[in-house]
Order: sequence, then C-alpha cells, then structure tokens
Amino acid sequence: MDRRKFLAGAGLGILAAASPISLSAIENVIQPKPRKSGRLNLSFFPYELKLRHAFNLARYSRTTTPDVQVQLEYDGVIGYGEASMPPYLGESIESVTKFLSSLDLTQFSDPFCIDDILTYVDNVAPNNRAAKASVDIALHDLLGKLMGQPWYKIWGYNPEKTPCTSFTIGIDTEEVVRKKVEEARPYKVIKVKMGLDNDRETINIIREMMPDVPLCVDVNQGWKTKEHGLEMCHWLAERNCLFVEQPFDKTWIDETAWLRERSPLPIIADEAFQRLPDIVRFKGVYDGINIKLMKSTGLYEAHKMVTLAHALDMKVMLGCMTETSCAVTAAANLAPVVDYCDLDGNLLIANDRFSGMTVENGKVTLHDVPGLGIKLLDK
Ligand code: MG
Repeated sequence: MDRRKFLAGAGLGILAAASPISLSAIENVIQPKPRKSGRLNLSFFPYELKLRHAFNLARYSRTTTPDVQVQLEYDGVIGYGEASMPPYLGESIESVTKFLSSLDLTQFSDPFCIDDILTYVDNVAPNNRAAKASVDIALHDLLGKLMGQPWYKIWGYNPEKTPCTSFTIGIDTEEVVRKKVEEARPYKVIKVKMGLDNDRETINIIREMMPDVPLCVDVNQGWKTKEHGLEMCHWLAERNCLFVEQPFDKTWIDETAWLRERSPLPIIADEAFQRLPDIVRFKGVYDGINIKLMKSTGLYEAHKMVTLAHALDMKVMLGCMTETSCAVTAAANLAPVVDYCDLDGNLLIANDRFSGMTVENGKVTLHDVPGLGIKLLDK
C-alpha cells in the first residue's frame, strides 16, 4: 500500500500530508522496525579476580579467584555473564572454556525460548555448574535489556523488601580481624567464618568492638564432632547469632539432622547443597539453604529453588562467590523474596568490571536498570 494512503486510512491523513521527515517519524511509531532475525552469539575470556584481602577459610586460603567473563550478543544487544570458580567447586578456567567452546547457541533464533536454550546448555555435559551459570546470567541480562526492564520487576518483586546483606569476616589474626570489623561497621549483619581452633576468640573480638550487631556463622564444614557443634550452637545463641551455616562435612547427613534437632539456631546448607532436587532430600536435615548462582547453574533454576524451599517451609539465604557486580547483581534480583542475603562478593575484589546493586545503610539496593541492572565500567 502507498505510504500516504496507509496513513490516511489509519486516521493520520493530516500528519501524512506533512513533510517527508515527519512522515518517516510517524511510520516509525506505528510501524516499529521488525526484529532482525538474529542469532545468539556467545563470546568469553578469562579474568582473574584479585581479592582485596587474602581469603582464609577452614580448609584453604587464597588471594585470587579464577573467573571467565561472558558476553551473549543478539541483534546488537549484549548480555553479560560470568563464571567464578573458587577451588572447592572443581571448575577451572580450562574446564569453563572447554564447556563454553562446546556450545552452539547460534541454533537459537529466539532468545526468549529460555527454557529450550538452558535445557540444551544443561544437557551438553553434566556438572560444569559455574560455566552453565555464566550463560544463564548473560541470557537473563540480554532478555531484560530486550524487554527494557530489570528482572526483579519482570518477576513482580518489590525492591523495598530486600533484606540487609551480611559482610564477611574471614579467619585471621587478631590484628586483621580488628581491621575487618572496622571495615564492617556500615553493615547491619556480620558473617563470621569459623571452623578453626580460634572460633571463640574471633567472636569475642567482634563482640567487644560491636556488641549488638547480629552475627551469622559459616563453619565451611570445619567442626569435627557433633557434640562440639552443639556446644558451639548454644554458645553462639547467647551471643546474638542468627544461624549456623554448614557446620559439618557435607556428607554428614545423620549428624547434621541430629544437630538440627537439638540446636537453638537454624542450620543452613551450603557446600552440601547444589541444585533443585537436593532441596527435597535436605528437608529435615537442614532448616534452610544457601542458594548461589554458581551452584544452581544460574537464575532460572535459582528462581525455582526459592519457590520450592519456601513451599517446604525452609529458609532461603542468597549467597555468592567472590564475583564481579555482574553475578552479584544477578542474584540480587531475587533478594526481595529471600530470608537472608550474603551478597558481598563484589566488595571483596579489587578489579570489578561492573557497577550494579549497591548496599545502602546495610540493605541490598536494586536499581531500575534493564536486564540484571549492571553497567560496564570504563577502564
Ligand atoms: Mg558458606
């Protein structure tokens, strides 16, 4: 149909009679450019995260975390993702690179077929959870950008309902612990790493400097007997501790259930728990779960985990690895519907590539930015 006849038929005859420039503008409004029939293009590169302080846990210490940064491009729009690989997960830059190289995402012409795409990614090879998460996170960023909305809005979550995030203090010398407590002062909840001989000394230092701030304790499988675990839970309960995370070896199911029955504090699963089917298995063993995108293979499954855990009357904690603001902000989109947040991984690194969610007055704060809510920093 002739352009002017078409516009006249649409009741826009007066406007159609205007100059060619105006005509073009009108056509753009009533006839948006058709979406290009593009393809999903995946690219990635290794990126070593440099930690601000050495990270000491019950089982190891480190100053860097291997990471792979991912981009997913569709019709000129780029979604960002990442895989972070702390040693205990068993993935590496080599394994993630190999996994991502084996994917053929160009077979998908519609990026909104998220279930098809991520089912394909999950079925390419078992495990590789951080590698899978990197694609999932980039896809969510891309789709949110294509829809022009952040994910917490797409899911219908109220950003006012985010909890405060904890700030982590690792296992260290008294001098370093005191320095880190000073750093932690803006936060409303402190997470303390435990599992060595100086557990009580660390808590006593923190309590001397910050008598009232609620604590969470992460033992990282460090306690060696169930009796010691129970004694510590009672001791911690008298010191305003909210919960204890992964007290025993991840294979100690009966011992953990024994502790849970007797402990005055909730017991949260971290290393023992990876993906969606684990939740049903741990009902009655743990009071709650710590969801991390690098374990859950990303947001798509993490979102289902939150729903299932709450349906089973289990607590949900949202955690992270040492990651850039990309993956941390991705997880933060779920923050309005979880019980506890431990989203400080981006604050622990010195070379973040992104800005994203912020912590304001201790609270996880989401911003109205399409996609995950991140921006690439100029460097
Ligand atoms: Mg943990």
